[in-house]
Amino acid sequence: MNSETSPKTIALVAHDHKKPDLLKWAQKHREALAIHKLVGTGTTGGLVSEQLKLPVTRFKSGPLGGDQQIGALIAEQQLDLLIFFWDPLNPAPHDPDVKALLRLCSVWNVPVACSEATADLVITSPLFNDPGYQRYIPTYNK
Ligand code: PGA
Repeated sequence: MNSETSPKTIALVAHDHKKPDLLKWAQKHREALAIHKLVGTGTTGGLVSEQLKLPVTRFKSGPLGGDQQIGALIAEQQLDLLIFFWDPLNPAPHDPDVKALLRLCSVWNVPVACSEATADLVITSPLFNDPGYQRYIPTYNK
């Protein structure tokens, strides 16, 4: 980690069956995560904060609107990375919100990692901590 690394805002979200995987991943990358501002959906954020002993801003639980709150951060250009371990094997009552969150990442070119391998690659990417790297933010101006 270089000393010029500027803190970014990282959102952490995991569906119930994927929470153990996210906690394991977060523990593995605790040092990298610790320099950034962490936010998360209610249950995920609480578990991560408890395990890593790091502050995590918690929104509502995903099914109660937490995914949409994170979506609002994306629309306001206040999110730099979403780690989203959604569950491909179990239906979620808030599936429309899940889709909406993933859609907004594409709309605003926000990096999103939906698997442990992708999350490993993103959090260790030299570009992620390069102060000279600025992701392209679409303008959609006609
Ligand atoms: P939770 O929400 O962290 O409150 O469980 C995650 C989700 O289901 O989107």
